[in-house]
Amino acid sequence: MQLGAWSDRVRVTVSTSSDVLRWPAVGRFLRWSHARTSLQLILLVVAAVLVLHGLFGPQVAPANLATVVSWVQYRGWLIIAVLAAGNFFCTGCPFVLVRDAGRQMRTPLRKWPRWLRVKWIGIALFVAVLFAYELYDLWALPRATAWLVLGYFIAALAVDLLFTGATFCKYICPIGQFSFVAATVSPLELRVRQPETCRTCHTVDCIRGRRAESDPAVVTRRGCELALFLPAKVGNMDCTFCLDCVQACPHDNIAVATRVPALELVDSRRRSGIGWLTRRRDIAVLSVIFVFGGLINALGMTGPARTMEQSLAAMLDARSEGPVLAALFLIVLVLVPLVLLATAAALTRWFTRTSRPSMVSIAATYSYGLIPLGVGVWLAHYGFHLLTGVLTVIPVTQAAVLEVAGWAALGAPMWQLTGMRPGVVFPLEVGVILIGASGSLALGYLISERDYPERPVAAAIPWALVTVAVATAALWITAQPMDMRAIAFPG
Ligand code: SF4
Ligand code: SF4
Repeated sequence: MQLGAWSDRVRVTVSTSSDVLRWPAVGRFLRWSHARTSLQLILLVVAAVLVLHGLFGPQVAPANLATVVSWVQYRGWLIIAVLAAGNFFCTGCPFVLVRDAGRQMRTPLRKWPRWLRVKWIGIALFVAVLFAYELYDLWALPRATAWLVLGYFIAALAVDLLFTGATFCKYICPIGQFSFVAATVSPLELRVRQPETCRTCHTVDCIRGRRAESDPAVVTRRGCELALFLPAKVGNMDCTFCLDCVQACPHDNIAVATRVPALELVDSRRRSGIGWLTRRRDIAVLSVIFVFGGLINALGMTGPARTMEQSLAAMLDARSEGPVLAALFLIVLVLVPLVLLATAAALTRWFTRTSRPSMVSIAATYSYGLIPLGVGVWLAHYGFHLLTGVLTVIPVTQAAVLEVAGWAALGAPMWQLTGMRPGVVFPLEVGVILIGASGSLALGYLISERDYPERPVAAAIPWALVTVAVATAALWITAQPMDMRAIAFPG
């Protein structure tokens, strides 16, 4: 490991007060060597319960834990946790716990092929999950949801028993890719506390893993499986907050530090395990899919989506929903972003009177600036479902216990418990979309200031217009009444 090449990139010392690991109770818990396992065990039990109830419980979505926990609770809490703290749902990921158990029996020997060390598979699976969710109305299907969760466990296990490191997390997991992008606007980040300590560190256990003194071939604490070398780590992209590096570092030199959210998206330094963000076309595409995926996911259950599908069905003379939905996805996830980003990139070149960099590079660079708006859209949508149904998990759990135990151990199901009224949640949805849009406007200007110091305002104007256009679409979708998306097809 060539530490010298990276050492001048580590500049800032983290103060004790801004290091969550030094905070009284939460810090002690996170530094505990079994902190991750305890979180994983909790989520493993939750996953087991929802799979069993999904497979064998009532096949009515609002009365089944598989659908209520997966589509109402889990998604909402995930995005809230990422925004409030960091990628802590990856910390507690039960798939990794099962994988680790599997690796006790079989050690993977193969390395993930170099040409696949990009996000394209993760992006394709992310789109596939969004598509399947809309096509099959997964939110209404407890058994299918349970199979999806089981399939996830099997896929994570199969991939990581074949390939070393955290291959599934880094390159394949669609939830992981979603969380990595969202975590760029988190207020916390793993980074070194004292740069000087790293400059004189010879073991670099944070990446290589801590070795047994008696036998250096034996790893007693694993290093970063995501290939993020702490002295050169920038931001949260690809970090699962697993805290392995914290446990491995022999100098106790890693902090969970507070920071300004989203500023990492303007950081042009080379990142360990990633390279230069501006050169990663796959991550730029992931960011765009994240933003516009938020729109189509929110659009899915509204009346206008049904009208659009009916028009498309008539135009395509479609006899099933698949091709119609595929056309809608093509329009919202590909054509609209392509037109918006290409136009904005061309205008930026024109306004700044430059011929370089290429339009693709400009679009890729500025696409990261749209992430805060995308996070606002996802939070508005998932927050709506969570807040309007936050208490439904109580009667569903009571009913499940009654069903299994034969008596009301948790009391009779209180079906009157639901959540906040949609009218009360609506202003909150508008608020988070506007906050996200403000963040994107600010990032667009900061990127312009960095790349076009002579004409930052001119360079930023097209991207401000893109932000306003996407935010307007998001607000319009949010204002639409919910509608069960189901259209009749002949045959
Ligand atoms: S093991 Fe600790 S001190 Fe050494 S390089 Fe990694 S973070 Fe720095
Ligand atoms: S840097 Fe690596 S080891 Fe440390 S928390 Fe992030 S993913 Fe885990």
